[in-house]
Amino acid sequence: MFDLIRRLRARLAPAPRPIPDDLWQATLAACPLLAPLSADERERLRALCGLFLAHKRYSPVQGMTLDDARCLVIAAYACLPVLDLGFDWLRGWREIIVYPGEFRVRREHHDDHTGVVTEGDDVLIGEAWERGPLILSWADIEQDLADPHAGYNVIVHEIAHKLDMLDGATDGVPPLPAGMERREWIGAFQRAYDAHCAAVDDGADTVLDPYAAESPDEFFAVLCETWYSAPAQIRDEAPELAPLLQRFFHAGRLVPA
Ligand SMILES: [Zn+2]
Repeated sequence: MFDLIRRLRARLAPAPRPIPDDLWQATLAACPLLAPLSADERERLRALCGLFLAHKRYSPVQGMTLDDARCLVIAAYACLPVLDLGFDWLRGWREIIVYPGEFRVRREHHDDHTGVVTEGDDVLIGEAWERGPLILSWADIEQDLADPHAGYNVIVHEIAHKLDMLDGATDGVPPLPAGMERREWIGAFQRAYDAHCAAVDDGADTVLDPYAAESPDEFFAVLCETWYSAPAQIRDEAPELAPLLQRFFHAGRLVPA
């Protein structure tokens, strides 16, 4: 039965969008995090981008303009974390909303101590809704392109939230590929998260972004963006997590330099 559904889905799926050579070369030049990829990996990423462009829908808002080059930059960094996991890991959502810069969202804040609920505006550079859109600030994408090894990458960060949400719980524990132990993952991440939170509480200068102390799901998302943009930071502050991220993202491949 499931096999039949899968076959029907495959037949109904849109054909991958062909990516012209000049546009692909321009994307490789624009995205510094793609530089370490081998020729084979680049071709596999190009194929994933073709699927991404066919399956996802871009919605520029607030005067944002998106051309093919910008759409492909977003596709390339969105597909980079699933280069070895596969396109299926980007399932369950379709829309990418792109703002020109930071955007405001109205949020309710619950004070755990007093129980008081207040409403206020949060200013965000990215957001991922479960089974809903991926929301990005183009200005921050440009910042990441210009300064690729600072430890930030808003696209990879939001895709990490999407991977985390695949099992229905936004808790910093994504579904794990075959051969990975959930118990081992949870133990190592909990130890590293507790240590990071304690360092941030003490006012210490942490190597990883202090924002990662916000919650376990933010810790996971920050680790993923750091893994691609400044992996040495993870080996410095949370060395126990480096082999786990290596196995999660690219079992069998070398750790990025
Ligand atoms: Zn986040």
